[in-house]
Order: sequence, then structure tokens, then C-alpha cells
Amino acid sequence: MQICELIERCQLQGIITMSEKTILVWFRNDLRVHDNEILFEAIRKADKVLPVYCFDPFYFKTTELGLSKTGNIRARFLLESVADLRHNLQKLGGDLIVRTGNPADIIPQLAQQYQASEVYHHREVAFEETKISEDVETALWKIKLNLKHFIGHTLYHKEDLPFPIKDIPDSFAVFKKKVERDSAVRPCIETPRHISVPPIIDPGKIPVLADLGLTEPFDDPREIFQYKGGETAGLEQLQRYILGTGQPAVSRGGKYTADHSSRLSAWISLGCLSMRWVYRQVTNNTHGSHNSNSPLILELLWRDYFRFMFKKHGRQLFSPERLKDDQREPAPNQDELFEKWKTGNTDVPYIDASMHQLNATGYIGNHNRQIVAGFLVHQLKADWRKGAAYFEEKLIDYSPASNSGNWAFVAGVDKDPRDNRYFLGAKQAAELETQSHFINTWLSDVYDDDSSLASVI
Ligand SMILES: Cc1cc2nc3c(=O)[nH]c(=O)nc-3n(C[C@H](O)[C@H](O)[C@H](O)COP(=O)(O)OP(=O)(O)OC[C@H]3O[C@@H](n4cnc5c(N)ncnc54)[C@H](O)[C@@H]3O)c2cc1C
Repeated sequence: MQICELIERCQLQGIITMSEKTILVWFRNDLRVHDNEILFEAIRKADKVLPVYCFDPFYFKTTELGLSKTGNIRARFLLESVADLRHNLQKLGGDLIVRTGNPADIIPQLAQQYQASEVYHHREVAFEETKISEDVETALWKIKLNLKHFIGHTLYHKEDLPFPIKDIPDSFAVFKKKVERDSAVRPCIETPRHISVPPIIDPGKIPVLADLGLTEPFDDPREIFQYKGGETAGLEQLQRYILGTGQPAVSRGGKYTADHSSRLSAWISLGCLSMRWVYRQVTNNTHGSHNSNSPLILELLWRDYFRFMFKKHGRQLFSPERLKDDQREPAPNQDELFEKWKTGNTDVPYIDASMHQLNATGYIGNHNRQIVAGFLVHQLKADWRKGAAYFEEKLIDYSPASNSGNWAFVAGVDKDPRDNRYFLGAKQAAELETQSHFINTWLSDVYDDDSSLASVI
């Protein structure tokens, strides 16, 4: 059936009335109903709201390095998160239209089908994400519709910073000092109580992993922490963290102890949790030990910093001078070394244990990320972009600005003037424990049966 025929039929059946205003809400990395400005504003301004999510095949392709853009652990988390969003919208009387395909085709097509007068989305910052929204914007222009951009991914709103984007300090220390002194975190946006959607003809099925060309991940019994995608599970994990009853987190030293790691990153990266919500819950809480001095708040600021650095520098984020300075002679057997690093076969127990944990679970703590990244870049002399691409495939919490920003920081090719970021790099890592609970846990397959190594990769 032609689209115009379908629209006519809907009008005849009273599904769409010409006088009603409909706004299409395009969900991307903001899979929540709490503190969600695009949803709230659409409900406020329109009679009907059309929530849409697109699974874009671009994110499930294989890159030039032969790596998947999205590995199966993160893909499963995403599928669960979209299902949870649909469920939460249904509880409010709404629904979520789900499609697989290029958003530049799908969004305008749905906008026409449901006679939406505008499309709302949250602005992204990294190259690929902004290219996708530019393509959608161009396609919408062709049918005379506007794509309205909102800011919703940061703790501090861009307009509340004490400096224009072009003057944001490149040093994290200066950025932190000025933002904490001169800016305030905005209150959260009200959670809607009801959503009115037009009668939806075909809500669409949420794909399964096989539809995305992926296999079901194996849930490694060595991992204590269980991830479940979605706003509901994210809010529960936040409560557990605040009350101090979370499952044991992996400490900075990689040992299983209860420490400050919140394990919230996967939910924050997909926007199942808003940064502001986390901030408010942590700073207002009277139960546990957390408050505005919580280490979590500092960590959230790092996330903002990398995002704003992307906004400020764009493609120049990775300083050409530093990239030039960084032209160390690459190791002749680069590919072989990269393969050993990826598979956790470097013969440095701490590095190998970390990579096994990453491959098996999609997560390693910040300290371990710094160590394995430093080892790849400084000891194996590999291109940091290869490491970043590998993290993109594997991390359950992959987020472009946080990933590239941290990798560039470790490699020393970013804009922060701070020197000597070899952290606890290769040399020190090798000197770290060779026997510990962490190492024994994640290298147990090697010790038990050398031939089983491939099974955790
Ligand atoms: C090489 C490298 C690559 C990384 N890639 C990513 C990535 O793709 N996605 C991602 O979310 N984080 C990334 N990080 C940052 C950090 O390691 C993770 O955010 C953190 O380990 C997640 O665990 P958590 O939620 O328990 O963190 P917590 O320590 O509890 O911190 C709370 C939150 O603050 C944010 N945060 C903490 N540290 C950082 C940091 N250094 N940079 C940016 N945000 C931070 C995260 O949203 C995190 O959930 C990377 C770090 C390194 C060194």
C-alpha cells in the first residue's frame, strides 16, 4: 500500500485527524522516560507523541580492522534496554515504534505516515552520530520538516558552563575547578504521567541477536555482577549503589572488594540513566555514605569533560602536534602483538587477566582500562586507535567521546597539557602481582586447560 493511501485510510478511520499536532520523538542514546526533555517537551507541545527507535545496521557492521562495531554483550544490553523503554512507555499509555534500517529513511517515512509536524532528538557529539543526525535532518528538510535538537547527555548543561564551548579549558584540572565553582547542575525534568500516542498500525518487533548477525553471549560464571539493560534495572543498580548494598564491584586494583565503582556506566552510556538523575540521587541521599563529595560526582565530571572536549575540538581533538611527536617507530610485528593483547596472551599476568575479563564480560574497571591501554600503546607500540576500536567492539558501556578521549589521554595525543600519562603502564603492570584472586579468577582457564583459551574470546 502506498504511504499516501495509508494516510488517507487512517484519516477516514479517524486514526489521524488533521487538526491534531503530532511530534515524533526519536530515541537514540536516551532510552529512558525519567529526566528526558525531548519526551517531556513533545508531550507538552503536541496532542500526540510518536516515540520511535531505529536499529541502524551501520552499528552492526564489521570495521576495516575486521572488528564488529557492536559485540554481542553490548548488543544484548541494547535489546533489553529498548524492550524496557517500550514497556515503560506502555505503562504511561504510550508505545514505542521499533524499526530496523537507516534512520534517514525511516524517520521521515514515519513522520509522513503519522503526519508529524516536527521531530525531536538529543544532539550527539561524536562524528558518526552527528553524521547520522545530519542525514536525518537533510531528509526531513526535503519533506519540509524540522529536526529539533535538545541537549540531554551531560551533567552540566552546555549553556550553564562558565565559558563558551570554544574557551573550555583543555586541562581537566582547570575545567573541574571552574565548573564546580561557577556552574550548577540543573534540576531534573519531570517524569511524564501520561503519553498520548496516535493509534499505531505496526509497532514493530524488537530484533533478536541473530537478526543483527550476532550470537548469544556466554554468561561467564566467574563474573559476579549481572547486567540487565534498561532504565528499570539501571535505577535499581543506582539504588543499590546509594544504599551501599550493591554487588561487589571490581576495585581500582582489580580485586573483588566493595569500593567506589558504581558499575553504572553501561546504563549511563545508553541513557537508561540520566547523569543529572544520578547526581541528584547521590547528593540528596540520606541513607548511605554518599553525598556531594562522593567520588562518583568527580567521575561524572570526567565524562562531561571528554564530551565537551569533543564538542570544542571536533576532528582536531587529537592534537596534530602531539600526533606528530608521537611518531614512535611501530613494532615490526604489530599485528601479532595486537592479536596477543586482544586475546590476553602477552604473558604479563595482570594484562592477560584484564583482557580475559573484558572479553568474557564486556567490562573492566577504569584502572585496568588504563593499564591495558598503556601497555598496548607504550610497551607494544601499537596504534592507540586499534585499541580504541577493540574497546568499541567489546565494552558494554562503549561511548565514543569517553572511549576516544581516554585512549588519546593514555596515548598522550589529546589536548590536556598534563604530561606523563603513562599511568601505571607496562613496566609497573608487569611488576604488579602475578598471583592474586583477580589473576587466578581470570586466568583460571589458562591454568586449567590451555586449549580452552579461545573459548573466552
Ligand atoms: C582506555 C579507556 C577507555 C574507556 N572507554 C570508556 C567508554 O567507552 N565508555 C565509558 O563510559 N567509559 C569509558 N572509560 C572510562 C571508565 O573506565 C568507565 O566509565 C568506568 O570504568 C565505568 O565503571 P563504573 O560505572 O563503575 O565507574 P565509576 O567509577 O563508578 O564512575 C561513575 C561514572 O562516571 C563516568 N566515568 C568514570 N570514569 C570516567 C572516565 N575516565 N572517563 C569518562 N567517564 C568516566 C562513567 O559514566 C561511570 O559510570 C574508559 C577509560 C579508559 C582508560
